Amino acid sequence: MTLHLKKAELHCHIEGAAPPALALAQADKYGVDVSGLIEDGSYVWTDFSEFIVCYDRVASLFRTEEDYATLAETYLTELSAAGTIYSEIIVSPDHGNTIGIGADAYLRGLAAGIEAAKAATGIEGRMIITIIRHLGGEPAERTAFYAARRDHPLVTGFNLAGEERMYRVADFARAYDIARDAGLGLTIHAGEMAGADSVRDALDIVRPSRISHGVRAIEDADLVRRIAAEGVVLETCPGSNIALGVFPGFHAHPLRALRDAGCRVTLNADDPPFFHTSLAQEYDIASEVMGFADAEIDAMTRTAIEAAFVDEDTRAMLLSKL
Ligand SMILES: [Zn+2]
Repeated sequence: MTLHLKKAELHCHIEGAAPPALALAQADKYGVDVSGLIEDGSYVWTDFSEFIVCYDRVASLFRTEEDYATLAETYLTELSAAGTIYSEIIVSPDHGNTIGIGADAYLRGLAAGIEAAKAATGIEGRMIITIIRHLGGEPAERTAFYAARRDHPLVTGFNLAGEERMYRVADFARAYDIARDAGLGLTIHAGEMAGADSVRDALDIVRPSRISHGVRAIEDADLVRRIAAEGVVLETCPGSNIALGVFPGFHAHPLRALRDAGCRVTLNADDPPFFHTSLAQEYDIASEVMGFADAEIDAMTRTAIEAAFVDEDTRAMLLSKL
């Protein structure tokens, strides 16, 4: 168990963090039939395409600003109980538009939840606005302009998520230029469902300080050396990778190989209940299954704080807690 270790998370999709019990309560509230979606307290899906459908169905159970406040507060409070001092949640303002409350109310609700969790537990939270890869480049640019306005101080980063096998990184170059010019921290999903080329494109075109996943960089030794040399931080999510079949088991996961090659790595839960995991469980797996010593895990947590999209005063405060 790693309950005694401080924790930090850079990569968690907020709708993907909804505990099934909360999703059931929401379904009750709105009279939605969730049979086939939630069975025996777990989300039901079999492959990446089905996972995305399942994710959207769960997301559709959160419909108001207050629902989003509850979701963020519930998740961050749960993280804090496991020793987590910092969390960046990935948020999708497009979803606020889809459900009709609008992007502003969606972010306001999430921010209220982050602030409520901080008031109660001290956990620090930030939001990363994501564009959705399978929707293509044009909506991404609209979202980038929205993110660039930075209407909320807790919005500090920009990401690209969704189906990695659709479109090319180049299709999102302009969206990233907009976000970079606005001073947002940049990260991008790459090297998860697609291989090393996807990571190389991300580095060349987006020039991010972090890569969401990036683990399939392991397929190319030159690329691993480049990631290490450039100090790009990998937001690894081992439980997610195993659940989605990216690697056949934890024994085959490249976290240790990447770390040993000098890459800066961190531990993250991605969409925890969908992948039958949690941040605490990712730490436990690193410790008990992958055999990392506490000091090695602490180093990953320190890396996460060093790479966090926060102002320097907040970073210093968080580092002082380690
Ligand atoms: Zn992700």
